[in-house]
Amino acid sequence: MTNLIKSDRLIYSMSSENKPALEVDPGSTVVFETCDCFQNQISSSEQPIEKLDWEKINPATGPLYVKGAEKGDTLRIEILKIDINDYGVMAAIPGGGIFGGNIGESSIKILPIIEGKAIFNDSIYIPCKPMIGVIGVAPDEAAIPNGEPGSHGGNMDNSKIVEGAVLYLPVFHAGALLAMGDLHAAMGDGEVMVTGIEIAGKVKVKIDLLKNHEIRNPILEYEDKVYTIASHEDLLQAVKISAEDMLYRVIRKLHMDINEAGMLLSAIGNTEICQVVDPKMTARFSMPKWVFK
Ligand code: CA
Ligand code: ZN
Repeated sequence: MTNLIKSDRLIYSMSSENKPALEVDPGSTVVFETCDCFQNQISSSEQPIEKLDWEKINPATGPLYVKGAEKGDTLRIEILKIDINDYGVMAAIPGGGIFGGNIGESSIKILPIIEGKAIFNDSIYIPCKPMIGVIGVAPDEAAIPNGEPGSHGGNMDNSKIVEGAVLYLPVFHAGALLAMGDLHAAMGDGEVMVTGIEIAGKVKVKIDLLKNHEIRNPILEYEDKVYTIASHEDLLQAVKISAEDMLYRVIRKLHMDINEAGMLLSAIGNTEICQVVDPKMTARFSMPKWVFK
């Protein structure tokens, strides 16, 4: 039996107050049907973006209650499959993104998805690499709008959260309350214009629980690398926190002192940027997995 949460179970902020859409045991497979970040309100490039219902932005499907999950545990989310719709949407919004001050008028682009490519124009076909923009759990304290990233995950817009990746999120409340949405058919690191190729779809995940295993920020494994992820209003702080999380991981796992661990990070670790356009910016720090073997 497949557990399914349909895209009519939407939340707009991550909060311990949200009522679970579904309860499952650890080890379960769940499909989340998701809307795009505009809640599928855009279907034509002629549509004025100013007329959208801005209350319905960044919906996430869920939340999922994971039985037995408690504060101090870690939720393990394996991304088994991401299926996307047959068209994506991009927007230019005055004030939005790093060129926002120079954008006079808004515009919308609809990108048909054909045979794994997003049709940008007559000559540019973009290979799709579907990813999850918003994925998170109920945060430790007050509710956090889905547009914002943090320790709980949220709008990390991390181009590595793709099929085959494994995401680890800290659990702050009973059941964890996992929700996700804001898929992108493709997105460049930084997301400079504030939209990726926004698209509706379906995400199939396997959920597991690491009991009494505390992490302070999200961690990701993808292909041959492990990533620590941090968000902050100041990008340099996000960079520092993500590197620091990796530093302590190396100190702990490889029994090194800080000097030795720092040198190793400096030699083979990479600071990478997820996004620079959300209310907090997100950085990730990568290390090759082989070093931990
Ligand atoms: Ca996003
Ligand atoms: Zn998005």
